[in-house]
Amino acid sequence: MKQGYAKETICIQSGWKPGNGEPRVLPIYQSTTFKYESSEQMGRLFDLEESGYFYTRLQNPTNDCVAAKICELEGGVAAMLTSSGQAANYYAVFNICEAGDHVVMSSTVYGGTHNLLTVTMKKMGIECTVVDPDDSPESLRKAFKPNTKCVFAETIANPALVVLDIEKFATLAHEYGVPLIVDNTFATPINCNPFLWGADIVTHSTTKYMDGHATSVGGVIVDSGNFDWSKYPERFPGLCTPDDSYHGIIYTEKFGKGAYITKATTQLMRDLGSIQAPQNAFLLNIGLETLALRMERHCSNAQKVAEFLEAHDAVAWVNYPGLKSNKYHELAEKYLPKGSCGVISFGLKSGRLGAGRMMDYLELASIVTHVADARTCVLHPASHTHRQMTDEQLVEAGVAPDLIRLSVGIENVNDIIADLKQAIEKAN
Ligand SMILES: *Cc1c(COP(=O)(O)O)cnc(C)c1O
Repeated sequence: MKQGYAKETICIQSGWKPGNGEPRVLPIYQSTTFKYESSEQMGRLFDLEESGYFYTRLQNPTNDCVAAKICELEGGVAAMLTSSGQAANYYAVFNICEAGDHVVMSSTVYGGTHNLLTVTMKKMGIECTVVDPDDSPESLRKAFKPNTKCVFAETIANPALVVLDIEKFATLAHEYGVPLIVDNTFATPINCNPFLWGADIVTHSTTKYMDGHATSVGGVIVDSGNFDWSKYPERFPGLCTPDDSYHGIIYTEKFGKGAYITKATTQLMRDLGSIQAPQNAFLLNIGLETLALRMERHCSNAQKVAEFLEAHDAVAWVNYPGLKSNKYHELAEKYLPKGSCGVISFGLKSGRLGAGRMMDYLELASIVTHVADARTCVLHPASHTHRQMTDEQLVEAGVAPDLIRLSVGIENVNDIIADLKQAIEKAN
């Protein structure tokens, strides 16, 4: 792709580049394997001496075209698709951590990520210190240890909608010689490019806005190429010392800025196998074509819905970074000048019970566990994902008992507001 295309253009034109007489639309390479003329050539692929496809558990051309498009949208040097956002975050961390290592993570990350790092990866011997993302640098410094290997946070936290001070986190991570990994799912590369603010690795659950139509679970990891692993060979031996499973190659020496993604592909995909199905990558690519358009509408709709809710008598509180009253409004103006996302959280004066009642009266908005879909949807964590918890336990977990998570879709905003209005009034 020629340098300098705008994101809207990249969304449509990047990735698949058909040759003369080839399909205009990215084909689904629905094949587990790829054919070669000589045994020697196949051997060179296995030695990583030559690049080429041999087995879809590691790489597939459909996936690579879609990964290249996302890579360009983020301004990175290399990217890989994964079977889910969970797999992306797992690989992003595990690619540079092993038993005995340590991670610093923001407390407000998505519940699945919180559990992955504090429960599941702990069983693998990787320790995690959870920090308040709003803390001062002085206080955040206390979380770092000699064995810290990375810092992990979200641009806009799901569902707390905390906007990350990316520069503050990047500066701190770099002070300790470790990369900052940012999950950019809610902002999408349309609204924020964390690399511009010093983040080193970006991940996404492509299941959300990127697909946008709730058809396919998927994830992606993008490397900025900016983190100099070879400056810290003792801290990152997996990248800077010989890999016995590939005849002693050293990723940083052989692949330069491609080292991190090459290692994640050749080791983690090979051994753990969480590739995205090419069929899902094809659907993701169609979603990406309209991502810029959809984000614009999600954000303008959400802004109007948030303003409507804030002005409603029956509403106790509204959390949306686009509101002037919001704690994160200033950070949002800096990092998300085009808008944040379509997700709003709010509470009714009638509390936990009122939330459930109101949702039953919704006609257009549907009750689903999904967010970031073209269709408006709602979830009441206290009645659904966290229903086993008491009010006290919910507060401890950072989920207000009355919190309604509203994912504003791209329908006509007047219809969305009218639906909320009638439901709130009936439930009152
Ligand atoms: C949904 C989500 C994930 C997990 O992604 P899946 O595709 O559901 O595995 C990770 N991070 C964030 C911010 C999410 O919203």
